[in-house]
Amino acid sequence: MHSFVFDQPAQRVIFGPGTLAVLRDEVTRLGARRVVVITTPYEIRFAEDAARRLGDLSAGIYPEVATQHVPAELLARAKERVRTLGADCYLAIGGGSTIGVAKAMALETELPIVAVPTTYAGSEMTSIYGITEGGVKKTGRDRKVLPKTVIYDANLTLTLPPQISGPSGVNAMAHCVEALYAQDANPIISLIAEEGIRALARSLPLVVAQPDNLEARSDAQYGAWLGGAALGAVGMSIHHKLCHTLGGSFNLPHAETHAVILPHAAAYNREAAPEAMRRIAGALGGAADAPEELFDMIKRIGAPTALKSIGMPADGLDRAAKLATDNPYYSPRPIEYQAVRELLDRAFEGRRPTRKGL
Ligand code: NAD
Repeated sequence: MHSFVFDQPAQRVIFGPGTLAVLRDEVTRLGARRVVVITTPYEIRFAEDAARRLGDLSAGIYPEVATQHVPAELLARAKERVRTLGADCYLAIGGGSTIGVAKAMALETELPIVAVPTTYAGSEMTSIYGITEGGVKKTGRDRKVLPKTVIYDANLTLTLPPQISGPSGVNAMAHCVEALYAQDANPIISLIAEEGIRALARSLPLVVAQPDNLEARSDAQYGAWLGGAALGAVGMSIHHKLCHTLGGSFNLPHAETHAVILPHAAAYNREAAPEAMRRIAGALGGAADAPEELFDMIKRIGAPTALKSIGMPADGLDRAAKLATDNPYYSPRPIEYQAVRELLDRAFEGRRPTRKGL
């Protein structure tokens, strides 16, 4: 057994369909009296329901998170509006974009966040924040932005359409995959990551085929929770670096980018991280090869497999490879420009990452 550090952050998780009912109690527990509900124009009905449940503890709704990756201009507007509402707590109800705005505000104000996630992105479980300025997304870690309380109520995910559910679930799976070959991997997080892959692999096909299957939704949310916990606890690698680059600098949609890149990032590390590959393949149902099975599963659930189909310009591939290799994250296989450029080529075309010689 190798040496490791396991750092357990203090966070309260309430899990289960119908748990939004305890929202007011949870906010009271934090001592908050003026909660501002942050959401997008599309999730406004969830926010209105939450504000009703909060009653006199609600200080208003800020429903204008319309863009991903927390653009600095959007953040400035949100800060100003939320400040005038006199918030002492943020309730972020929505996907990673909504939670991201609450985190970026908390970085400055240090106000507590209650997160009610409605996708599988996992941001609610991490102290990672990101802000995009001048076409570059900068991320950092700070415990101030870690939501104090997370309420996972699968009822709020029933409306997530299959074309968002599938890629979003793969986003959660990507956190688990990279946790297994993280530089600072540890035995607890590796178990969490393996279980996360298992839960997502069994639930995602059901979720996309039967979007109103509450049991499958709850199972997928369980996988998303585990994915978020893995992302929050250990460092990520080439996959996340590429996705941040493609999202922040080419404005590609977050979850779909994860879906396209994951099999190729795993294939990049196939030979360098054999134990991780064995565990991933096992959790995917005993597949012969982890990257190949990831690709096949992503295809089966109807998620995108080619960068060219999600808005990536062919003439941006050189720049993407350069940005991703300039300040690389740790990777079991060292990051080299030419190899990453070839990875991007395969991902652009949507080629199956087949093992050599097959
Ligand atoms: P998102 O929040 O942008 O949501 C995707 C789409 O789904 C949006 O159109 C949204 O309106 C819609 N949607 C959300 N919930 C819905 C529901 N229940 N029913 C119907 N539609 C719904 O996307 P995301 O993938 O959840 O988050 C992406 C962002 O989060 C990116 O900026 C990414 O960098 C960030 N992120 C951060 C972390 C972190 O740890 N800091 C982790 C994961 C993702």
